Order: sequence, then structure tokens, then C-alpha cells
Amino acid sequence: MRIVLLGPPGAGKGTQAARLAERYNIPAISTGDIFRANVSGKTPLGLKAQEYMTAGALVPDEVTNAMVRDRLDQDDVASGFLLDGYPRNPDQAVELDGMLSDLKVKLDVAIEITADSDEVTQRLLGRAKIEGRSDDTEPVIRKRLEVYATQTAPLTAFFEGRGLLVQVDGLGEIDEVTERIVAAVEAL
Ligand code: AMP
Repeated sequence: MRIVLLGPPGAGKGTQAARLAERYNIPAISTGDIFRANVSGKTPLGLKAQEYMTAGALVPDEVTNAMVRDRLDQDDVASGFLLDGYPRNPDQAVELDGMLSDLKVKLDVAIEITADSDEVTQRLLGRAKIEGRSDDTEPVIRKRLEVYATQTAPLTAFFEGRGLLVQVDGLGEIDEVTERIVAAVEAL
């Protein structure tokens, strides 16, 4: 399975990514997690990414694309992968196309987890209290939602145009959402 997971911040992508990765026995690749690990480790990549992440902006495409290309060159993606948080704009989607054609593989599905912005704002503010992520403050959440709406949301049409889009309601219990996703994927 080669899966792209889309959805606004706070829709539950990370949680569902972990479950789907286990279910389909594929690695979940979260660009946000890779960036956060590099920020914590104070690596050159982390230093490049940090200011953008703190502002709720996208890390520049050349940095992000190179990082994903490296990751997709590793052996563990041979049997599939799930991308969580990438692509995040149309240029990244085109870049991903190039990476996949170099690897001579194709995506199976783009799953969009939908949730309205009031709901996700409340979830992110709740998560801030538990995880203490520095980008889960109200002004940065607002910015991240705006970035999603303007830069990432056009990917819905992009993947729909390729016949790869599946939309799943992200409201409800975690298990329920997982079952909805699996049912939708299996109905493909
Ligand atoms: P996430 O954990 O997916 O919400 O990502 C956290 C932050 O990492 C985002 O707000 C961006 O600053 C950065 N980031 C993650 N994925 C990407 C991407 N595909 N392109 C650019 N920036 C990204």
C-alpha cells in the first residue's frame, strides 16, 4: 500500500497514520515528526526548519522535498509507505510524482480526513496542554489552519482528478474513524 494522508492540523492524521501503518505493515512517514526530531537534535536541517515551524508556516519546498526524497530511498519503503503531512502544496505533489516515477511505483490512495476548523482548533488547544508542542498556541494554530486552507486544500482536487481521493469524516471515536478509513480503502 502506498498512501498519502491529508487533512487539516488536528484532524487526527498522526493517530490514524500509526494505526494504518500497523494494519498494512508499512512505515508511517511524518514530515512534521522528522522536522521535530531534527529541531530537538539541533541538526542543520532542524535549524533550517525551526523558524518556519514556530511561525506555523511551511518549511521551504526545497528543504522538505529533499528530505522526503532521501526517506523514500530507504529500503523499508519497498513494500509501501504512508505519508503523513506530505505533500502540503501542489508543487510538493508534483515533486512527489517525480520521486514515485523514479522509484517506478504508484500511489494507491490519498485519504483525506475531514474536520471543521472549530473542532480542530479545540483539539489542538487541548493537545497543547498535554504535549506542549510549541506550535499549538492559538495564533499559530490560526496560521496553520490558514496555510492548510490556502496551500494544502487544493490537493483535494489534485488527487480527486487522479481518481485517488477518499474522504473520511474525522469526527468521532478514534476506532470508529480507523474503521471508516479501512472500509473506504477496501471499497476502492
Ligand atoms: P505537522 O506535524 O504535520 O503538523 O507539521 C508541523 C510543521 O512542520 C508544519 O507546521 C510545518 O512547519 C512543517 N511541515 C511538516 N510537513 C511539511 C511539509 N510537507 N512541507 C512544509 N512544511 C512542513
